[in-house]
Amino acid sequence: MQEPVIGIDLGTTNSAVATVEGGRARIIPSRAGGRLTPSVVGLDGDGERVVGTPAQRLAEDQPGSVVWATKRFLGRRCTPELLQEAKALVPYPLIPGPTGDARVNLGGKVMPLTQVAAMILGELKLDAQAHFGRKVSRCVITVPANFDDNQRSATREAASIAGLEVLRLVNEPTAAALAYGLSTSFQGNALVFDLGGGTFDVSILEVRNGVFEVRATGGDSTLGGEDFDQRIVQWLVAQVEEPMREAVAKDTSSLRRLKVAAEVAKRELTEKQESLISVAALGDYTSTTRRLTGVETVLTRAFFETLSEPLSRRCLEVCRTVMQDAKMDPHAVDVVLLVGGMTRVPLVRRLVADFFGRAPSTEVNPDEAVALGAAIHADELVRQSGAALLLDVAGQSLGVGVLGGRVKKLIVKNTQVPVVARDIFLPSRSGQAEVRIPIYQGEGEFQDDNHKLGEVVLKNLQVGHRAETQIEVTFALSSESILSVRAVDLKTGVAEQVRLEARPSLPAPEAAKLSQEQARYTTSQAWEDSQQGQEKLRRLLEKGEKLARLLQRGAQENPSPEAQAAVTTIRTLLESSRAALEAGNPEQCANAARQLTQVLSGRQA
Ligand code: AMP
Repeated sequence: MQEPVIGIDLGTTNSAVATVEGGRARIIPSRAGGRLTPSVVGLDGDGERVVGTPAQRLAEDQPGSVVWATKRFLGRRCTPELLQEAKALVPYPLIPGPTGDARVNLGGKVMPLTQVAAMILGELKLDAQAHFGRKVSRCVITVPANFDDNQRSATREAASIAGLEVLRLVNEPTAAALAYGLSTSFQGNALVFDLGGGTFDVSILEVRNGVFEVRATGGDSTLGGEDFDQRIVQWLVAQVEEPMREAVAKDTSSLRRLKVAAEVAKRELTEKQESLISVAALGDYTSTTRRLTGVETVLTRAFFETLSEPLSRRCLEVCRTVMQDAKMDPHAVDVVLLVGGMTRVPLVRRLVADFFGRAPSTEVNPDEAVALGAAIHADELVRQSGAALLLDVAGQSLGVGVLGGRVKKLIVKNTQVPVVARDIFLPSRSGQAEVRIPIYQGEGEFQDDNHKLGEVVLKNLQVGHRAETQIEVTFALSSESILSVRAVDLKTGVAEQVRLEARPSLPAPEAAKLSQEQARYTTSQAWEDSQQGQEKLRRLLEKGEKLARLLQRGAQENPSPEAQAAVTTIRTLLESSRAALEAGNPEQCANAARQLTQVLSGRQA
């Protein structure tokens, strides 16, 4: 039997893993019990790693021992601007690594962000291995459509540390569209509205005959569910009685507990019209004359909507800009796909429906769509079954640095790739024998606002007046988003070419060491998981035996062919489960456990 393949949504707030089973994409539950794994990593008091829900719990007691939302900084250079940006977003500091990458300090250990991402990926891999009872090493991973080469390369590096072979990186909106079934019968324009915990992304896809083309992308990387929670927190703080209000507003522990309560209330208001919020013992814990207070209040859905409407409207502003970029009118959108847990909020759905003049599609769980789509694509790739053709666009503009500190763009953002673009440039001064052509990526008008990718150096030019030295610069951007730049002196034919591939963020020996460390962890964890898998099967067997006795009694009291068939099914299943346990075969045990769980929950085996 072929080794299974998985699809992974490596998210900013939550991650998920899925697979195609029996022709359907399904989420693989985490060993901790949920369907999503919080993208949180920590080190506990013994220096042991904790990932996901346990790390989230650790964050409540020891916020300094965990990091989260590190995807925001993955694959980015640790510049002063990034440090500044991080300061505004997260309480933990970023630390520059030896190759200019960003790192974090976890319990006194400085870790590259690719290692943090590898820990999350490693956990998802272990979840998948526990589900199948066998080794899993091939996957499709999703990335935001506007991830640049370095961010994509860092994602691949993280996968490699986690012992995963990446069959392909797929853009998140494209994966979502696959999950919504757009590869089969849909033709037209799909808008993917992705509002997660910390970021908002909008993408427009054109789908024709199973060909997916990202036509435009945009977003706001500082707008997400957290902001909605903060609106509620501010409102709660305003209700604290004077003179305690200021102390509560400054106390990090009080604010953290208010935030947890705010998020619970926000979720509740998706289903109900009111939510009771009660948080006790708020105040200044650092003061010696400690005085504490509490808030108890009811938040109605209507008032939550008043509080958060400006944020939802900001999402629509982003949609408007992306529509303009794509030169499209909201009514040219044929389908609106919702992605991200925040799109469950009724107000968000209502505003989206009003803006586009159509109700958004809601038939897939918005926080699972990306992982499900990744699994569908992974399955198509291994079966080579007329896989959907995924066409991409340049996520960011590419250009050449020119006089006045400006950038002349050769390839503008959202141009379909592969693409070739050329232009003529003159040396900055007359009499130059050598020119350096700096290459920039980004949307800023000035070089300082863009990211410098590298430069082409053209030597042995014929010295003369600057107007006589015409240099043709050609940018070729491949479908894998690798940029080749060629510069030619048109007079002499002297030419130079560079390939600007994303640099790996870690030195090779360090990456190899981390891979070995991760492999050791995976092996020991997989052994523990298989023991726990057997334990779980034993418990299921006991329940299954009770069910078999019940069905047997039922069949005796009310005999029928169906009742007898149900008894035979469960007995056969129990027999094969016992055989799997006796053989100690992890794959058979996992299969048996899955089937027994289905039967016990009233579903078909
Ligand atoms: P994601 O990054 O897609 O996992 O989205 C996480 C965000 O969605 C968080 O801000 C959650 O509070 C929010 N969220 C998840 N489920 C719900 C719900 N049922 N109602 C409101 N917000 C939700």
